[in-house]
Amino acid sequence: MNNFKLVISDKNLLKGIPDHVVKSAHLKAKAKKTKGFLFTIDFPSYLPIMQYADNRKLRKDIYTAYNTKASSLMDSKFDNTKNINHILKLKYEMSKLLGYSDISSMLLKTKMAKSSEEVISFLSKLTKKATKSALADIDDINDIAKEFNITKVMPWDMPYLSEKLKKEKFSITDEEIKQYFSINNVLNGLFNICKKIYGLDIHETNASTWHEDVKFFEIFNKKKQLVGKFYLDLYARKEKRGGAWMDEAISKYKFMNEEESPVAYLTCNFTPPSNGKAYLTHDEVITLFHEFGHGLHHLLTEVTEYSISGIKGVEWDAVELPSQFMENYCWEWSVIRDMSYNKKTNTYMPKKLFNNLLESKNFQSGLQTLRQVEFALFDIKLHTEYSPKNRSFMKILNNVRAQVSVINTPTWNKFPHSFSHIFSGGYASAYYSYKWAEVLSADAYSLFEEIGILSKTAGNKFKKEILSKGGSRTAMESFIAFRGRKPKINALLTHHGLTN
Ligand SMILES: [Zn+2]
Repeated sequence: MNNFKLVISDKNLLKGIPDHVVKSAHLKAKAKKTKGFLFTIDFPSYLPIMQYADNRKLRKDIYTAYNTKASSLMDSKFDNTKNINHILKLKYEMSKLLGYSDISSMLLKTKMAKSSEEVISFLSKLTKKATKSALADIDDINDIAKEFNITKVMPWDMPYLSEKLKKEKFSITDEEIKQYFSINNVLNGLFNICKKIYGLDIHETNASTWHEDVKFFEIFNKKKQLVGKFYLDLYARKEKRGGAWMDEAISKYKFMNEEESPVAYLTCNFTPPSNGKAYLTHDEVITLFHEFGHGLHHLLTEVTEYSISGIKGVEWDAVELPSQFMENYCWEWSVIRDMSYNKKTNTYMPKKLFNNLLESKNFQSGLQTLRQVEFALFDIKLHTEYSPKNRSFMKILNNVRAQVSVINTPTWNKFPHSFSHIFSGGYASAYYSYKWAEVLSADAYSLFEEIGILSKTAGNKFKKEILSKGGSRTAMESFIAFRGRKPKINALLTHHGLTN
């Protein structure tokens, strides 16, 4: 990625790209003592070109670079083909040593899904449900393409035309939404939900921390007993790792007669306060709720055996259940309304604005679902079909694309060469987990939709059967104990508008 640089000297070629992106490209060029504008293929540079550059050739050039990176088409010095084959070979050998028929069988042993057949059948079901909607998304794209004199839509036109379509359909901006979500309101809203459904009281308290931005909280149950504590480190700052995550500071355990109550780190990278006030975009509100869901899973555990308390020992494809579950509340008008209250002006976010936001939620959800399925299907098939005699991973990918994709991806698109999730992350034979856990979280939330989104009965049951159990039993046992049956895919499809 670092090896690629594109220098544009004519500013006219950059029409449509937001000013701050152009400016930063100019600064990057300057730092290299070059004239003009320097673009790279890291996300903050790549994405705005794909979304906003009016110049089609520029979009194609940067798309080509991005999608051939780490392959021989970009630079044979950095070709990942050998690495991929080496990693697969070692994993295959390991699976044989342990007596499995293929890599997937080995890796699925510790997952909720029991076999690659089960995963493939789940993904096929999703494909079937999403295709119709994805084709409608393509029709919309083809329609708007005419307005831009594009007769044959190519992959490098998709993000660009999607942005145009989105603007035409919803006309909402982050800035407009942001004014309604002050951080204090959002935290109060979040803590209120915990109070109502789990009977928890959450209070800020003093503690020594590593930075003045960091706050510390204690959680008490109905009997006023201390349940757990957490650090909240919300804002971006220099030299802080990017992204958002929950991590365990102390896990619950019991040793002899000593019991330790759990402590969590909740870390985000939101825009720091200006004039002492911080506001969040809706996406950031979702991020906070998501991480807080992981936090509750860690903090509300009743398992006192260290290695299976909290999130420890929970199957990889089920661990996002509690976090994604919390995200659902960010799409509830009653919750959003209360969180958006402005004391000074005595006003709330207008319902109409919220409805717009809700509509935009499922923009291109068919296409997005198929994209996730394509990656997941490639991953599971690769790790099931691979053997030293069958090493052509591009062939497997091309078959998957032919089977599920509604976009004509060029055969020179070398996506696997930078698919770090499965080659250097923990997602080998597990990329399907994203969608799998979403089925669980949507289906769990549907009980709340049936009997009340702030139902104490449902909340206590969710806490007792899912949040408190850690890895003391299988995720399937926990889910059935909560929902009274095995998970169903319906709620996920409804949430994404994929039911017709
Ligand atoms: Zn998560």
